[in-house]
Order: sequence, then structure tokens, then C-alpha cells
Amino acid sequence: MPDAAVLERLRVTASTCTRCPLAQGRTQVVFGVGDAEADLLFVGEGPGREEDLAGEPFVGRSGKLLDRLMWEELGLTRAECYIANVVKCRPPNNRDPLPEEIAACRPYLEQQIAVIDPAVIVTLGNFATKLLLGSGKGIRELRGQVFERGAARLVPTYHPAYVLRAGGEAMAEMRADLVRAKRLMVAGRA
Ligand code: URA
Repeated sequence: MPDAAVLERLRVTASTCTRCPLAQGRTQVVFGVGDAEADLLFVGEGPGREEDLAGEPFVGRSGKLLDRLMWEELGLTRAECYIANVVKCRPPNNRDPLPEEIAACRPYLEQQIAVIDPAVIVTLGNFATKLLLGSGKGIRELRGQVFERGAARLVPTYHPAYVLRAGGEAMAEMRADLVRAKRLMVAGRA
């Protein structure tokens, strides 16, 4: 079965998920968007209000910045990569996802990674980075480096919401991380 069909089947399964209490507060499950055969996968934290309403990750202010940096540093649109989140349902009042919510949702992300099989994974912020690296270290310590994650290279960077707040240096560092991801994509798999 083509990757897009496998992902679509998983999306339909996830759309009625009740594995954690976030199911009660969501408008809809925000599964992910993009090319099921992409070389590059972005992983964010979880949907906010706009994403919950639209059913698509990163459509608010953070998403506009992500789209812009993706285009300027990688020459890619969101249709040419894939964007997913650690949790697929909006935590109430935009609070951080809880460990049990992350654990309940993890199989969806792991299956997305297995199907898409990206050469490069860019983790956006602490939640995605800690989850996929199994590390207790924070993003400030981890960014600027490249990690092996199964068959993929993992490039940790800041969450765009942080870059919107912090500006200047954080923006330059995120751009540098995306350039690092681009170089890895061009070089191909290890
Ligand atoms: N922040 C995230 O981490 N993910 C989204 O989809 C939107 C904002």
C-alpha cells in the first residue's frame, strides 16, 4: 500500500482516539500535514487554538514563521515536507502536554516516522526533542548538534513560538539549524 494510504488509514484511526483526556476538549484531532514520502519531518509540541479549529498543525503565528524559515533556508513549502506534533489534540488553555498524554499519543508519532521514513527529523522545541532523543537535556544544550535517530538524522532546534518571543539571536540560530538540516538532506542518508 502506498505510504499516503497507510498514513491516511492511521489518520482515520486517530480521528476518533480516546486514549487520553485531551480527547474531551478537542475540536478535532490534528494528525499532521504534508508529503507522506518526504525526506524531512518537522515535529512540534501540540496544536494550539487555531490548529484545533483548522485541523492542521502550525497554522497560527508560529506556523507562519515556520513556513517562512522553511522557505528561506530550505527552499521548501509545507506540502514538500511533513509536519506533525508530539500530541495530536490541543491541551486546554495551551498548557504543556502531560507525560501521560505524551505517552498515550506516542504510538501515532512513531508510526508516522516509520511510514514517512524521513532522512532528517527537525524537532521544534523541548517536548519533541526530549521525546525523540530520550534525553533529559534542554533544547539550548542540544541544538547546534546532529543526532542519529534510527535511520534518520535528528536536528534539534527551537520552537518557533520561542523564536517569536526571543527574536535576534534565537532566530539566527534556528536559521543555522535549518541550514544544517538542508545539508544533511542534500548529502543523503548516512
Ligand atoms: N505549536 C506546536 O507545537 N504545534 C502546532 O501545531 C502549533 C503550535
